[in-house]
Amino acid sequence: MNKPTGPIASKSLRDPRYDVLFESVQIGPVQTRNRFYQVPHCNGMGHQYPSSMAEMRGIKAEGGWGVICTEQVEIHHTSELSPVIEGRLWEDRDIPVLRKMTDKIHEHGSLAGVEPCYDGLATPNRYSREIPMGPSPRPVSYIDPVQARGMDLRDIRDLRRWYVDAAKRSKEAGFDIIYVYAGHDLNALSHFLSRRWNHRTDEYGGSLENRLRLLREVLADTKDAVGDTCAVALRFGVEEMLGDEGLSSEGEGRDVVEMLADIPDLWDVNLSDWDNDSMTSRFAASGFQDAYVNFVKKVTNKPVVGVGRYTSPDAMVSLIKSGALDLIGAARPSIADPFLPKKVEEGRIEDIRECIGCNICVTGDFLATPIRCTQNPTMGEEWRRGWHPERIATRHADESVLIVGAGPSGLEAARALGQRGYIVALAEAGTGLGGRVAAEAALPGLAEWKRVSDYREYQISQMANVGIYLDSRLTARDVLEYGADHVVIATGAHWSDSGIGRAHHAAIPREDGANIVTVNAIMAGAEVADPVVIFDDDHYYMGGVIAEKLRLAGHEVTLVTPQGDVSHFTHNTLEQHRIQKRLMELGVKITPLHTVTDIEVGSVTLECIYTEKEHDIDCGTFVPVTMRQPEDALYHEVEALIEAGASGPQTLTRIGDCLAPGTIAAAVYAGHRYARELGEPKTDAPPFKRELPTLATD
Ligand code: ADP
Ligand code: SF4
Repeated sequence: MNKPTGPIASKSLRDPRYDVLFESVQIGPVQTRNRFYQVPHCNGMGHQYPSSMAEMRGIKAEGGWGVICTEQVEIHHTSELSPVIEGRLWEDRDIPVLRKMTDKIHEHGSLAGVEPCYDGLATPNRYSREIPMGPSPRPVSYIDPVQARGMDLRDIRDLRRWYVDAAKRSKEAGFDIIYVYAGHDLNALSHFLSRRWNHRTDEYGGSLENRLRLLREVLADTKDAVGDTCAVALRFGVEEMLGDEGLSSEGEGRDVVEMLADIPDLWDVNLSDWDNDSMTSRFAASGFQDAYVNFVKKVTNKPVVGVGRYTSPDAMVSLIKSGALDLIGAARPSIADPFLPKKVEEGRIEDIRECIGCNICVTGDFLATPIRCTQNPTMGEEWRRGWHPERIATRHADESVLIVGAGPSGLEAARALGQRGYIVALAEAGTGLGGRVAAEAALPGLAEWKRVSDYREYQISQMANVGIYLDSRLTARDVLEYGADHVVIATGAHWSDSGIGRAHHAAIPREDGANIVTVNAIMAGAEVADPVVIFDDDHYYMGGVIAEKLRLAGHEVTLVTPQGDVSHFTHNTLEQHRIQKRLMELGVKITPLHTVTDIEVGSVTLECIYTEKEHDIDCGTFVPVTMRQPEDALYHEVEALIEAGASGPQTLTRIGDCLAPGTIAAAVYAGHRYARELGEPKTDAPPFKRELPTLATD
């Protein structure tokens, strides 16, 4: 391996306006190094991939985050989240795993926080098969035929003891901040607080004081157990957005803060449940939480941390100076840029890789796989591939690379190859950079996605060794004549008009003259005739967002999908219910559980996926959102010329959507991976380290 190079930008000094962000904050018995605070966030690694989790957290400490917290950490086997992967602290044997994380964090002078949780009736205990328990008997909130039992007073005493045991184990594992977690409608403490879940008639039910009793007791127990050396933080959702049904910042949410005001050492306040707290940029702007949480500082003398997907240091400074927050909480901005604080400190604001609010990071939790991020291709790869978000090996040789196509994959390849020191030419057929990102960012609600190309465009503009050639549609002969040592084809993909996808394995039959318009044509502003029928067999955002765009332009729109709901995959990005609601409120007609079997002039035939019963509906324009076709002709043409004896580059590679259309995150990752692996020998071994389970000895 070559020696790694450091960040490419110069080390200028930080702007004094940002000095306030680097002040230390006293939290109970511990002191932070600055005001950058990574609040607890899931990562799909947890107890199953602990080295990956620890390395990821340690790199954030290296990047300057003053406090780094775990995800939820299960405290007892009677409440576990399998197959979702969180932290685990059931017994002493779990301590060394978390000690690995705290050691990594302490190496850089940051504080480590832990979020013990007992999810009670939120979870069916699929692994332990223990009967879940909560304040009152209820079916568990995950869809699973499991019902939780109501807790008696002995259960409550047991639970208090388990929290204390977890706090003591956390302290032994090296944590500085120990949470009491009563947020996101996920755990016993918030369930006891809630009128919806808690129907008890004893001293733990009824009045707010009674419903608060368990939380108060756990806070006091935790302070008694570890409060001498550890700070005790309360994570609390002040607003559930459920009106009178739930906690609100003008009702019981506020009352709770007033009743506990100075008991915790730190208030970590947010919205509940998780999909209110972590809304995507499609549905909420950065900082939308402020209006709900800014009363907290007026009620308590203790420091307050809050989130808002903040990436701008100016916004952070104004939150501190206006007295809204003491610490700037971040989950997603710290995922997209683990080095955000360092960049502010070094006066490199324009190097910040800003989160785009897409929630691809959230999908790892739902799908029980290691976290990934659209903007940061190294996220989750820190330990297993040894990828550092800022450092990369220098070039393996003085060689040149021609990249064709400046979408997210070509741009990231150019940026990372440029950082390695190769001579890079990036040729783009269009007159601007960004490829699909530029087009999709113009769709309703997706403007922030432009940050994917903005970040890379700026980085490349600072590199003397990367040349950009716009308005340059290359042919195979152009590619070979250019004479680069390595050629990367990153020419993307286009939406197919065939209708082939998951439901159809052959093109949907069509009458001559039927009006079929592709997604790409709609993004380019094609005219459509009413009524429009969108057939969404893709199930991510595109079908729903095209429906929204056309409906906003005044068209009559029907969205047909074989799934039971629109944009089905977006359950994993916390968006599905908002997309469905928005489309319904806009007046898009939704026809679930149907496919389209025939496209005629003026109508289409729909078929029920269960009964196969058909019916026709009027259709002036048919828009299939079913699959994308790789733009791989150039790749094959270059390959054919080389096969026919033309002299070619040392390597010819296609990446991103040109190889296999996928998410923007996958395209960025492909570009990054290409750049990392150029010059590395190829083997049949897995390209990353694995965390193998150890065989038990008894
Ligand atoms: P990805 O997501 O894989 O990065 P995109 O579709 O976003 O792919 O980007 C592909 C880019 O490649 C587009 O900007 C397109 O204009 C460009 N492109 C396609 N064919 C050529 C070509 N022959 N020469 C130069 N650029 C091309
Ligand atoms: Fe932000 Fe998207 Fe990355 Fe999550 S995946 S941190 S939302 S850019």
